[in-house]
Amino acid sequence: MKLGIVGLPNVGKSTLFNSLTKAGAESANYPFCTIDPNVGIVTVPDNRLKVLGEMYHSKKVTPAVIEFVDIAGLVKGASKGEGLGNQFLANIREVDAIVHVVRCFEDTNVVHVDGSIDPVRDIETINLELIFSDIEILERRIAKVTKQARMDKTLAKEEALLKSLKAHLEEGKMAKTYPLSDDEDEQAWFASYNLLTAKPVIYAANVSEDDLADDGANNPHVARVREQAAAENSEVFVICAQIEQEIAELDDDEKAMFLEDLGLKESGLEKLIAASYKLLGLISYLTSGEDETRAWTITKGTKAPQAAGKIHTDFERGFIRAEVVSYDHLIECGSMTAAKEKGLVRLEGKDYVVQDGDIILFRFNV
Ligand code: GDP
Repeated sequence: MKLGIVGLPNVGKSTLFNSLTKAGAESANYPFCTIDPNVGIVTVPDNRLKVLGEMYHSKKVTPAVIEFVDIAGLVKGASKGEGLGNQFLANIREVDAIVHVVRCFEDTNVVHVDGSIDPVRDIETINLELIFSDIEILERRIAKVTKQARMDKTLAKEEALLKSLKAHLEEGKMAKTYPLSDDEDEQAWFASYNLLTAKPVIYAANVSEDDLADDGANNPHVARVREQAAAENSEVFVICAQIEQEIAELDDDEKAMFLEDLGLKESGLEKLIAASYKLLGLISYLTSGEDETRAWTITKGTKAPQAAGKIHTDFERGFIRAEVVSYDHLIECGSMTAAKEKGLVRLEGKDYVVQDGDIILFRFNV
């Protein structure tokens, strides 16, 4: 899973990104960690892994990971190719979801590019660039389809969709609020355009330290961001990027104390990961053995063979069955043997829909 961090200059993107990568770098011994300074790999906190790793005496415990891309430089005029604008938009096209950082903190020492703190105006500025970029994509597609539709009558339906979608965007609305029909062709076309404004968005409301404990409840800027997000089916989470940066420097014990002092249960990073999982409909299943205990990220509704394919394509191709026990059952029983005796280890076939926290052993043909 790949998340892109966007936002106007000076809202706290780099501060947030740096805290994410610093926090992530220690626990993630991933070889692809430092290819690109704008990409950070962050592990998904999951207490179940530690427990399983101990139960199985695993040599290695490998958490699921999320990749963050820092997409700085998206400014007014980006869609017209001003500055490096188009390059940034191309980067956004590759991510699964967008984390849009908006400034909700007052600090006279930090200049705002548009002169005042107004997160809803900022959101509109960025979203307009994304909308312009999407309109351009639709126009190119319309030109192509209109030409082909003269020969191929079936394309008239796509042409109609394109035009109606374009009209929607021209009203300043995002593609994800377009009332798409259940028609399978239309759904497939819509997905194929890979529009920026169809991507899920999480607004990160960057507040000052004082607003953290009550989750921004007394910050009127945050209230406006929440309204805006609700209108377009987006998520909001409240963060103080500066504090995150400080937290990222601490070891685990110090971190726990620091969070307690602030009246918080979890760091912003953990909240962000939980929010992205929810927004993208993701869950984790687990594999455990002497060599490794590991979490694998899948979307809700994924069936056993496709889940197996996350580990290796051979597992999917040669899938026979899955031996499944839920994490809670395994912990209740204390061991795999006990769980088997109680009949809690199930044999599931290719239509089984994998659940969050399933511990799975796949059987497959090579
Ligand atoms: P970017 O341009 O969006 O990447 O913004 P930066 O992360 O570089 O932050 C811009 C300035 O705002 C820096 O001087 C940061 O120290 C400051 N800043 C970032 N987050 C916070 C915050 O939560 N509170 C305050 N007071 N300042 C912040």
